[in-house]
Amino acid sequence: ASPSLANTPHPFLDGRAKRLLIGGQWQPAASGKTFETCNPATGAVLAQVAEAGQVDVDRAVAAARQAFEGPWRRFKPDERAALMHALADLVDTHYEELAWLDTLDMGAPIRHTRGARRHLVGMLRYFAGQATCIHGQTAETSLNGNMFAATLKEPVGVVGAIIPWNGPLWATIFKTAPVLASGCTLVLKPAEDAPLTPLRFAELAEQAGVPPGVLNVVTGFGQEAGTALAAHPGVDKLSFTGSVATGQAIVRASAGNLKRLSLELGGKSPHILFADADVPRAAQAAAIGVFANAGQICSAGTRVFVQREIHAQVVQAMAEVAATLRVGPGVDAESDIGPLVSARQVERVLGYVESGREQGARLVAGGERLGGPLHAQGHFMAPTVFAEVADGMRIAREEIFGPVAAVLPFDDLDEVVRRANDSPFGLGAGVWTRDIGRAHAIARRLQAGSVWVNCYNQMDPSMPFGGVKFSGYGRESGPQQLDEYLNVKGLWIQH
Ligand code: NAD
Repeated sequence: ASPSLANTPHPFLDGRAKRLLIGGQWQPAASGKTFETCNPATGAVLAQVAEAGQVDVDRAVAAARQAFEGPWRRFKPDERAALMHALADLVDTHYEELAWLDTLDMGAPIRHTRGARRHLVGMLRYFAGQATCIHGQTAETSLNGNMFAATLKEPVGVVGAIIPWNGPLWATIFKTAPVLASGCTLVLKPAEDAPLTPLRFAELAEQAGVPPGVLNVVTGFGQEAGTALAAHPGVDKLSFTGSVATGQAIVRASAGNLKRLSLELGGKSPHILFADADVPRAAQAAAIGVFANAGQICSAGTRVFVQREIHAQVVQAMAEVAATLRVGPGVDAESDIGPLVSARQVERVLGYVESGREQGARLVAGGERLGGPLHAQGHFMAPTVFAEVADGMRIAREEIFGPVAAVLPFDDLDEVVRRANDSPFGLGAGVWTRDIGRAHAIARRLQAGSVWVNCYNQMDPSMPFGGVKFSGYGRESGPQQLDEYLNVKGLWIQH
């Protein structure tokens, strides 16, 4: 693909998004309704997308149930693995197209979406391997008589997945891979702001031979399709990635049939820089840790704690990074940072900038929406750095989901641990120090699902990702994740 794709209709955008995938049939929404998805860099409408409602979700759940109880149940682990490798091959072959779709629909620079290839193809292959590694155990009981006691692991059944817009391909693969590996079936509800890549992925899954009804896609809005899926009595487990407020709504909606839940929610992750660190590298990493994907990453390191001796140096270095990053359309290979996903999101972020000013933080870079020929039509925001931020300020406590860094000075380890943990969230945490003892000590004390030392936001299929506290529960990827898609059955045989 070439940048000219940006100005021409993408082959996938000509009508194919007007259909839901239910039970192997591509079909319009029962209501016939559609909604628009737009390119956030230009404001242009990309495609009309089918708007699923309760009826479509009912049908998709029924199709998923039928598939779960049908031939899919008899697929052997190595057959599921082979299918997943075939899908991984197709994702690899079509990766460029998928990366472009992500870039067009949610705005991330093409360099960024291309860069996830190895991880995402690897994720499918890693879980293909896990499909053949499902083990129960036997137990030596203390009962009288001869007892054979063992555990079996069985797929939980129909899974509903609801995903956000900030990494559509990423989220689609994170949700699909464990479902296919475990032998469950899936109804996927993409985000209304970025529904295209999940649809293209579903076409590839069909092509790979995923049987009808195993993967169903219902595009639509959270309030309709999302709530219908979250409350559905036919869904055995719901895997959600998104905001805390929606996560809480999902917990309530799930109570009707007590479905199992995994929640990957927001964050306000601390990124801690000690004076003994490689300061230029740490400052660069701290800046990118906030600004990557225009700040629309759940584990963005948005609270940058800097030891007082290096505070001025780090603030200056981060301001320089902010000023030199190229903010532009994602289709431009030179862009470091794309637009925010919507005009609404820009307004939200500008509201936080205003609150930072009002509450007395010092703005040292950015702080405004970008205009000019390159930016006027899209939702672009300048990378922003606030210094002299106090712990109680809104910009230090609330998830902004935009390119806004809050820099906070600290003096010693105990103090920074206490302040870093004083947050409702607990997703990621970063630490920069050359002192190995300190690195170990602080890593154990930070309340977070992942701690990165002398690096930030590293991910790999072999490592778990998830949160504590308001950042949710459950883990994605890593060796234990499949257990979240499996029920354990105790088997007792007296003999
Ligand atoms: P969101 O919660 O508004 O929407 C996420 C999804 O939920 C969308 O598909 C939406 O349609 C659906 N939804 C909305 N209301 C619903 C309801 N009442 N019932 C059921 N579904 C509903 O979040 P967003 O704005 O799309 O995404 C940003 C948020 O996601 C941020 O808070 C970010 O931190 C979080 N996130 C977390 C992770 C993680 O792994 N922890 C990853 C990416 C994003």
